[in-house]
Amino acid sequence: MASRLGLFQDLHVACKALACLGASMAVPCVAGLAAETGDYSGENPPLCAVGTSAAGRGLYVKKPILQREVILKDVAVVDSVCPQERIQKVFSTRPPELSRAQREPIWGMVTNFVYLLQDVPGHVNLSEAANQEGAEMRARRRRLELFDAFYRPQLQDAKSNLYKLHAQEMHEAMDPTFQQSVASDVVADLLTVVRLDAHIVRKEGGMNGLGLFFWLHLANHSCCPNAFFHTHTQGGSAQATLYALRPLASGEEVCISYVDGQTLLSPVQVRRRIIQNQFGFLCVCSRCREESREANETP
Ligand SMILES: [Zn+2]
Repeated sequence: MASRLGLFQDLHVACKALACLGASMAVPCVAGLAAETGDYSGENPPLCAVGTSAAGRGLYVKKPILQREVILKDVAVVDSVCPQERIQKVFSTRPPELSRAQREPIWGMVTNFVYLLQDVPGHVNLSEAANQEGAEMRARRRRLELFDAFYRPQLQDAKSNLYKLHAQEMHEAMDPTFQQSVASDVVADLLTVVRLDAHIVRKEGGMNGLGLFFWLHLANHSCCPNAFFHTHTQGGSAQATLYALRPLASGEEVCISYVDGQTLLSPVQVRRRIIQNQFGFLCVCSRCREESREANETP
């Protein structure tokens, strides 16, 4: 098991992350920050690797996989406990319309990302880090890589303007030291990352949570997915397990569905509209291309 700073496990990190919002913004949920992902101590998982195609970055299997075989297990990089209705509310409501209890679970998760920002280049000397082989420096470099993997500046989302309002309020509530190191626009970008990449995690006691998973977030969408994942809580940390829905050939791309089963059953026009609205891209998976040809649309 990799050394990690997980949910409920490292109060120092959680407190440091939350401290940047100041005493008036104490976040009631317990949010965690993992220095490393999965069980792989920062290495690639044994059965897959990151690859690129014309469609961009994706997750590919390195050897044949059996149906129902576990492709990988992932531990959340950042997670938070949050009832699902609050998640939806934050991503659809202006901040002044939300109570503190409604907004803080999501804001707390973004705050953990702000904490990661303390390690971006300019704040840490990487050549110095390379000369120090201590576990702390390795963990710090790993966090940098993780941050870089998720963070996409100026990511456009249908809700970008709404997130800017949330970001402004969050930024005003921050400790002055943190305000100087992170711009309000960057906080808005991080909210977009959470909106697009975070997955619902089932937690004990009827609560749901949100988790950002490093390896899982590399898997692209398909309306005829060859893999399926489920999330759960284990030892207080959010985890995801990715399974093969059918046998996979060596080198094949692993695709999951970003949308629920009801959407997958919808006609191609409806499916594409939902995916475009929720995730901001036109789906050109093999099923969408085939069904749109049949419907005599532009593929
Ligand atoms: Zn599709």
